[in-house]
Amino acid sequence: MSQREYIHDLIGVGFGPSNLALAVRFAENDGAPGAHCFIERQPEFGWHRGMLLDDSRMQISFLKDLVTMRDPKSRFTFINYLFERGRLQDFVNLKSFYPTRIEFHDYLRWVASAFDDQVHYGESVTQIEPVTDESDPRTVTHLRVHSRDAQGKERHRLTRALSVGMGGVPQIPAAFAALRNAAVIHSSNYLTTIGNLMGDGMGGTARRRVAVVGGGQSAAEVFIDLTRRFPHVDATLVMRAPALKPADDSPFVNEIFNPSFTDLIYSQPKDARRSLLDTFRDTNYSVVDRPLIEQIYELLYVQNVSGTARHRLLNNCAIESVREVQGEQGNEIDMRLRDGMGGDARAERFDAVVLATGYRRDAHHALLDPLADALGKPVEQCEVARDYMLATPAHFQPRIYLQGCCEDSHGLSDTLLSILARRADEIAGSLEAGNNENSFEVQTRTGAQTGVSGGRVAFAL
Ligand SMILES: Cc1cc2nc3c(=O)[nH]c(=O)nc-3n(C[C@H](O)[C@H](O)[C@H](O)COP(=O)(O)OP(=O)(O)OC[C@H]3O[C@@H](n4cnc5c(N)ncnc54)[C@H](O)[C@@H]3O)c2cc1C
Repeated sequence: MSQREYIHDLIGVGFGPSNLALAVRFAENDGAPGAHCFIERQPEFGWHRGMLLDDSRMQISFLKDLVTMRDPKSRFTFINYLFERGRLQDFVNLKSFYPTRIEFHDYLRWVASAFDDQVHYGESVTQIEPVTDESDPRTVTHLRVHSRDAQGKERHRLTRALSVGMGGVPQIPAAFAALRNAAVIHSSNYLTTIGNLMGDGMGGTARRRVAVVGGGQSAAEVFIDLTRRFPHVDATLVMRAPALKPADDSPFVNEIFNPSFTDLIYSQPKDARRSLLDTFRDTNYSVVDRPLIEQIYELLYVQNVSGTARHRLLNNCAIESVREVQGEQGNEIDMRLRDGMGGDARAERFDAVVLATGYRRDAHHALLDPLADALGKPVEQCEVARDYMLATPAHFQPRIYLQGCCEDSHGLSDTLLSILARRADEIAGSLEAGNNENSFEVQTRTGAQTGVSGGRVAFAL
């Protein structure tokens, strides 16, 4: 029995800023793929909602929005967003390049709303499988994208190209990996869980000891937020480094986030790339905006003046082990710490822990694992070309673009917003060039009808 199966020109995995920038680029230029869609796990658009703290600011100029660096005349610029929201004049009066994250989130959501008909919200992509040519089983012609919604309903869709923009996965330190305790959360879930944990709205005023683990921007933001949001919380910042260090955002250093730097780093041998990444690491990792460091210092100082030192910073602290214990008020988390300088051990007890320990960028490995045989090696061993396309053997026809997981080859801007507009342009350009080369229809082996707007149909035998 022959069945018709819809073939997309491109499917995007995830609909964060990376694939959103791509959607904008497709919408604004001729030659974009006719049939494309995006699959997003969240029920609606959201940009790091768990960390949308009241006064947290962007760490990048608003001019590095989704489109300005590619086309400042686009209707999707941050400036046009301000104009349409009626806030352009007032924003100018702020004299700032750095909007709050809440406002930038609203901007991103405003852009995303223009693409609602292209996004399947509330579905998690679970696996990508190769689809081979009926007459030549060695040739991979398409990819089958499997997804599951919140009710457990499975779907699959066929595509000629994939744009993976899945973002990061919370990095959990080894000492916490085995702990199954609801009072240990990652910073990515901070705002969505901390209220309940601290007994918000339940009249909870009993003292709660909360540890924040980490020495970067998120750790510092969570620490200061805890001290302001909850009068009954004693917050402790536990960090391995000897001091909170400022992020280097000075102008010459900032040039590493220019798109031209991507060319430079990509053209280097592996060792030189690694050395460049190490040299500029303190632009993004384990560093904090200077004003926030000053706020924390002042907070601790003022406590000392008043003699009520409730909040603490424990530096040079390696966490050796963590276990759950029964305390006077219920379950507690017992942490064994070792001083990295003196070597002394100490034990600390907390009611809750926030792990501000960053993100891994390898979620795509598991997703693309079923392609390993067809690729001849695991995905993590495949090179990524300058145009962000996974290098594949000749018999593997689908194109796979990777966004946000190519820091090793494309530099520190890869996980950030800085190059989004230009990267979207490079990927779309590469896709257009590829489509012109391979504009033919291929038969697929099996399949079922999948719903999507636009697109071509192939007959499966
Ligand atoms: C708190 C915070 C603040 C930041 N602030 C800045 C800043 O000021 N400036 C800057 O340049 N960078 C900042 N960053 C870096 C950040 O990585 C980028 O801002 C941006 O989010 C990258 O976009 P993305 O689309 O690649 O990833 P993400 O924004 O993480 O989006 C990935 C999307 O994919 C979805 N997804 C993941 N897996 C699946 C799946 N299996 N199926 C379907 N959907 C899936 C996720 O739900 C998510 O919506 C910040 C990061 C954090 C955590």
